[in-house]
Amino acid sequence: MAQIAAIETGLYRIPLSVTLTDSTHGEMTAFELITCKVRDAEGAEGTGYTYTVGRNGHAVADICRREIPDLVVGHEADATEAIWHRVWWGLHYGGRGGPVVLALSALDIALWDLKARRAKLPLFRLLGGFDISVPCYAGGIDLDLSVDALLKQTDDNLAKGFRAIKMKVGRPALSADVARVRAMRQHLGDGFPLMADANMKWTVEEAIRAARALLPFDLTWLEEPTIPDDIAGHARILGAGGVPIAAGENLRSLWDFKNYIAAGAVSYPEPDVTNCGGVTAFMKIARLAEAFNLPVTSHGAHDITVHLLAACPNRSFLEAHGFGLDRYIADPLVLDDGMALAPTRPGHGIAFDWKGLAKLAG
Ligand SMILES: [Mg+2]
Repeated sequence: MAQIAAIETGLYRIPLSVTLTDSTHGEMTAFELITCKVRDAEGAEGTGYTYTVGRNGHAVADICRREIPDLVVGHEADATEAIWHRVWWGLHYGGRGGPVVLALSALDIALWDLKARRAKLPLFRLLGGFDISVPCYAGGIDLDLSVDALLKQTDDNLAKGFRAIKMKVGRPALSADVARVRAMRQHLGDGFPLMADANMKWTVEEAIRAARALLPFDLTWLEEPTIPDDIAGHARILGAGGVPIAAGENLRSLWDFKNYIAAGAVSYPEPDVTNCGGVTAFMKIARLAEAFNLPVTSHGAHDITVHLLAACPNRSFLEAHGFGLDRYIADPLVLDDGMALAPTRPGHGIAFDWKGLAKLAG
């Protein structure tokens, strides 16, 4: 038991080793990392982070620097639920999503890291502990790759130990998407888990047409077929398209997920711990999915999320994201024949290369 003494925020602009493209965000050349370090009165520390795909980082960092310390310093660091509600309601009028919930997510992750480190437990054990190994897929951001380059990237991912792969769809012509998914299915063989991500590209009618055209290729799921605001549209796509639907990287709260799940609009809820409200909210979303007899998958931040899914009996695949944050982490995620292993170090076990990051300070 110790009170929060200080919050330290970092903002870094990290260039991508290759330009990434999807159907909505266009070309991504860099991502922003916002770190939140919490120190308690006894000198123990926890670290959290969130990220953006290139913009809004200063807004997130400003909330961490200007708003959050005033709300939480002097409060009990172990009281993650109480602090979550203080920050959520303290910033509610300009919040309920956006940069506020990204900042809250970074803080909440830091507090859970601190709590687990003080307990000398790996985070997945503190959260209950179900299975240390979690099935993991490579999340390719590859919409603009030629088919040859797509298959080459796939071979590289297979060589790294991945046994499940996600590709982008949402090219201007549906026929191009169908040809690319067909080539991937032929390359990977029947039964190999393959997902496709449309990044909100389509109208509901276009998405239904696409889902039906992709039905022969046995996709594990079709992700974000249309805008996240259209819950009824997702339910229609799921019902009429016949392909399981994953969604959640653009939902920002437990209640957003409740609305989707209760409407039968999603087969694979896919929260991102860095933007859904942190560990506190992610675990509630995962348990909500469990109660509805649904699997839970994840978006981004695989180094933290591996712990969360390792604590969930209904865990599906962990997404290994392509942003390359691994370059700035001492012991990146370990894969063993398609399974990611949760680190057994206390906390989430992520040690950032602060010196390397300092050169990229924004
Ligand atoms: Mg996605």
